[in-house]
Amino acid sequence: MSGQPSAVSVQPRLSHSPLPTHHSRSIGILGGGLAGLALAALLGQRGHAVTVYERDRAGGKLRRVTVGGLVFDTGPGLFTFPEVWRAFLARLGEADPLDLRPLPGGLGVHHTPFGPVPLPVPLDHPLRAAWEAYLRPAQALAPHLGTLLTTPPRLGDPTFRQASAALFRATGGYLTAEAWVRARRLPPALAHAVRTHALNAGLAPQDAPSLYALVPALVADSVLRPAQGMGALLDTLLALGAARGVQVREGSEVVRVDAEAARLTLKGGEVRRHDLLVSALDPARLAALLGRPVRSPVARRTVSGVALYAALPGPAPLPVTSVLPPADFGTFRRAVRAGAWPPDTLALVHADGPRLAVLLTAPATAQDLSPEHPWVRAQVQRVERTLGVPGLLASARDLLALPPSHYAAGGHPGGAIYGAALPAWRGGPLHPQRYHPQPKLWQVGTGVHPGGGIPAILGGALIVDRLMGERGL
Ligand SMILES: Cc1cc2nc3c(=O)[nH]c(=O)nc-3n(C[C@H](O)[C@H](O)[C@H](O)COP(=O)(O)OP(=O)(O)OC[C@H]3O[C@@H](n4cnc5c(N)ncnc54)[C@H](O)[C@@H]3O)c2cc1C
Repeated sequence: MSGQPSAVSVQPRLSHSPLPTHHSRSIGILGGGLAGLALAALLGQRGHAVTVYERDRAGGKLRRVTVGGLVFDTGPGLFTFPEVWRAFLARLGEADPLDLRPLPGGLGVHHTPFGPVPLPVPLDHPLRAAWEAYLRPAQALAPHLGTLLTTPPRLGDPTFRQASAALFRATGGYLTAEAWVRARRLPPALAHAVRTHALNAGLAPQDAPSLYALVPALVADSVLRPAQGMGALLDTLLALGAARGVQVREGSEVVRVDAEAARLTLKGGEVRRHDLLVSALDPARLAALLGRPVRSPVARRTVSGVALYAALPGPAPLPVTSVLPPADFGTFRRAVRAGAWPPDTLALVHADGPRLAVLLTAPATAQDLSPEHPWVRAQVQRVERTLGVPGLLASARDLLALPPSHYAAGGHPGGAIYGAALPAWRGGPLHPQRYHPQPKLWQVGTGVHPGGGIPAILGGALIVDRLMGERGL
């Protein structure tokens, strides 16, 4: 278990930067999750003196834990849209120290009510022709994805304009993933598997922007993971920051923020002044630190989860990734919106030798659920029944459960995994977010980057870095 950087080869910096040079500022970043650490490295690259304040350990939702003597990386399991990671490294002038490898089985086998569907659909599968037809609209969009995820959304920018036009063509002008899938008239099993991917990013297909329906097509051939596990991403971000003088203060909880004076107070009373602050926290958490009223902690559009990490006595007889979608997305959506338990929820199962991770999607109501909770037990039984492995979790030598209350402790107050979701018409990459809410305060992270996964937050860090650069910072 360690948040320490391991030895990664950090290449020399580029001697030439495409951005203007600036006076060095003292910048305080609140939150040492992936977003805060990514922006810290970018700002360090410009010569700023950056300090990251982290209440717990660096990494946020991504962290290494030991369960039954086995090391697990909690949180994100799939590394997608590697072009965003490459753009991030290019801005730092670094070669890629992550040995990213395709995950066997891609997005995994989707156990839909209409039968199992592996994504990508293999050549000899009866759904192959339908899959190829489904891929077509995404093909012209794929080259623009990097731009959409890493460029400030401004129609005055010709590159962005081209990319948004490609997005508009691929999505056919449909607003939601549900509307897009219906219009394509996909076979029911494939349609169900595709809809699941909106949910995989925290939103029911009826609430997700239509781009989400294209995600399986856009990522199916590049579902990756570092050879050393996802924890290698954290090590790399820490090392890239350290090489640029970034100070990461773990165990330093910010308890008050004065944004006008760029001053923050740490638990214990220490007051720190900077020239600028960046919040890499959930916006509701930031509002509380600024002394502003915080709206209901329950996120109604998106989800939290119960993650179970099990150390098994031997390798699980399962594919690397299995996906169990809810039987009916409408029922699921109604339950989540009411803060109630969906009768059958989205379950993601990752098997890696004797390591088993089961992620059960749950309403974002900050509840503290144990593995013995009747809903959790029922969902685990459904997983075991569907995958033909009865009693698998009960056989575990050791088990760690991370419930919504865990994600609420340092993230969105309801434990929303991807932060509070925006309505479909404000989600996706086409809308400017609140990157710069006050003159001396900027924002990155899940809360201001719709979609919320690693590509969105890395891309968001690149956007904020560029906007700051344009303001002479
Ligand atoms: C179970 C699970 C599965 C996921 N799967 C995937 C996946 O397969 N692929 C993918 O791309 N993404 C996935 N994600 C999403 C991904 O993990 C997140 O998008 C990402 O980690 C969010 O990073 P962040 O820095 O924005 O937020 P966080 O990780 O929440 O970081 C915020 C940090 O701020 C700190 N903090 C909070 N309050 C304070 C304070 N007052 N003072 C100081 N520090 C504070 C917290 O301790 C935390 O470290 C998954 C997430 C979960 C939970």
